Amino acid sequence: MRRKLVAGNWKMHGSLAENEALLSGVLAGIGEVKVGVAVCVPFPYLAQAQARLAGSKIAWGAQNLSQHAKGAFTGEVSAAMLKDFGCAYVIVGHSERRALFGESDAVVAEKFAAAQAAGLTPILCVGETLEEREGGITEQVVGRQLDAVIAKCGVSALAKAVLAYEPVWAIGTGKTATPEQAQAVHAFIRARVRGLDAGVAKGLIIQYGGSMKPGNASELLSQPDIDGGLIGGAALNAEEFLAICRAG
Ligand code: PEP
Repeated sequence: MRRKLVAGNWKMHGSLAENEALLSGVLAGIGEVKVGVAVCVPFPYLAQAQARLAGSKIAWGAQNLSQHAKGAFTGEVSAAMLKDFGCAYVIVGHSERRALFGESDAVVAEKFAAAQAAGLTPILCVGETLEEREGGITEQVVGRQLDAVIAKCGVSALAKAVLAYEPVWAIGTGKTATPEQAQAVHAFIRARVRGLDAGVAKGLIIQYGGSMKPGNASELLSQPDIDGGLIGGAALNAEEFLAICRAG
């Protein structure tokens, strides 16, 4: 049986004071939560997350990493550095990284490999734009993004990874995929992995991300192939984030 995972993606938000308030709010209500919970914070706040969350039920991670292990890569952060701060997870291939920072499928696959080599669990994001959905190529796009990682790392690598299906048109827009739309893509992803390794497919956590809120979380999270959520905006509010966690 897969254990659901709800992860917050804080994006480029927060300050020491705001994070303190948010983390103490989430910690205060985490007792009754049954799902796995993580927060992916901006790099400068990893030490704060580690200090505040060590020993709690909440794991922490980052939102990006370098594909390189070390060297002359000014401004970059390696997987080993994330490991130094106790990260369990790192988001890889978020659509904002793909669209705004030019990360190709090949670079995303290298980042995925670098994360796993350091013992981090990558949360691999895949998803189509509105234009791609309307063009009827959602499965083609999501399949291509997934295949790039499988080609580099092998299907067995997915046994130590989390997938996040995030339709780009639903991220930060207030438009959520309907439970049926999301379930259809989740089922497609699982079937594609099943074609290569049934055991890996069965255990694979596939999160949904895209304007998940307390009001739509339980319907999305009750779909058979939706195993949690990657939460942007609602993860910045302790009560909303906890309500989503409780819906899981
Ligand atoms: C995200 O950034 O991964 C995300 C899903 O954002 P939001 O929940 O704000 O749509």
